[in-house]
Amino acid sequence: MRPLHEADPKVFELIKGEERREFDNLRMIASENYVSRAVLEATGSVLTNKYSEGYIGRRYYEGQQFIDAIEGLAIERAKKLFGADHANVQTYSGSPANLAVYMATMKPGDTVMGMALPDGGHLTHGWRVSATGQWFNAVQYGVDPESGLLDFNVIRELALKHRPKLLIAGATAYPRIIDFAAFRAIADEVGATLLVDMAHIAGLVAGKAHPSPIPYADVVSTTTHKTLRGPRGAMLMCTEAMAKDIDKAVFPGLQGGPHNHTTAGIAVALGEALTPAFQDYAHQIVKNAQALAKGLAGHGFRLISGGTDNHLILMDVTPRGMTGKAYSQALDKAGIECNYNTVPNDPRKPFDPSGIRLGTAGVTSRGMKESDMVKIADWFNQVVSIHDDEAALAKVAGEVREFCAAFPAPGISIK
Ligand SMILES: *Cc1c(COP(=O)(O)O)cnc(C)c1O
Repeated sequence: MRPLHEADPKVFELIKGEERREFDNLRMIASENYVSRAVLEATGSVLTNKYSEGYIGRRYYEGQQFIDAIEGLAIERAKKLFGADHANVQTYSGSPANLAVYMATMKPGDTVMGMALPDGGHLTHGWRVSATGQWFNAVQYGVDPESGLLDFNVIRELALKHRPKLLIAGATAYPRIIDFAAFRAIADEVGATLLVDMAHIAGLVAGKAHPSPIPYADVVSTTTHKTLRGPRGAMLMCTEAMAKDIDKAVFPGLQGGPHNHTTAGIAVALGEALTPAFQDYAHQIVKNAQALAKGLAGHGFRLISGGTDNHLILMDVTPRGMTGKAYSQALDKAGIECNYNTVPNDPRKPFDPSGIRLGTAGVTSRGMKESDMVKIADWFNQVVSIHDDEAALAKVAGEVREFCAAFPAPGISIK
């Protein structure tokens, strides 16, 4: 019955260190966030002890009195929040969720069409190092190298030529609204199933700050831990017509027992997302991203597509004399976290590309507003000129720490 700090002080101290780090820094990695105390509690509960292979009322183990109710709550809330016909809340994470859609719709060797990783797509959209690129015939579309935007004439031509069975819309690094209706029209024309992967933008969709893909897609996949602000996990939502195939692909096709502690955390997060406060949060994320984009553009960074409609900014930092990697490492020393990222048509290699990717979900969860983004943009500017001066970077990190201390972080008890 010993608490963690007594039972395993080593792990305890490392967790405390991470908590402090998350409190002290400007966390601007576009896929990260701060979950609430309630989500943390549900995720760290005894539900991790329970096996429940199968679905509600059809389990392969006894003792499901509470698990069935918890999974039922998560499903009902997901359907209500997104207006979906069917929801599966058992997928372990975004990547296996996408693989389940492949399994439900294709045989190995069939043709899938998705967005290329260097242009903003995800590994699981058919990129060559992923199982999805190796076990399937993957055709990849990109963005227009000049505008940084999806070009639906090019995507349509490619689809007509290759006739994919599965067409995937969605991205990890695309700062603009995706035209789901245009993807639907192409899928219909070539007879493809349309998967929209809304992993990054699910919280914006839930909070009505971004159009919903639900009316257009046959299947929607999403992680639950990005803008949606739940535990690490994922969900699949689909039409009634696809429900059986999707459920069968998740279990027994790809997985064994669901992670019930995660399911409970998802149920809690979805409950939070159904509140008016969550809509305010979602809209503030976009306002913050746009304020930050304006500040950064004013400092001479080249923003891909010229700005943003969502939570995310992708920018080329080479016009400021930096590379993505050197700059993101300097920012980290200054207490500002982001990730280096390729930009469309990047002449540099993926492990040291031209750009960085930023997101405003985390800082918005801490209550920061547009005026705070102006200040943050100024730090981005300052770090360029001091990027190889360790002492100056440490001084900025101190200022950032002091600044962050004024904004409570959800789930973190440090004051
Ligand atoms: C993050 C992400 C995923 C994968 O999620 P994991 O939980 O890391 O496996 C899938 N698709 C997109 C578009 C993503 O951004």
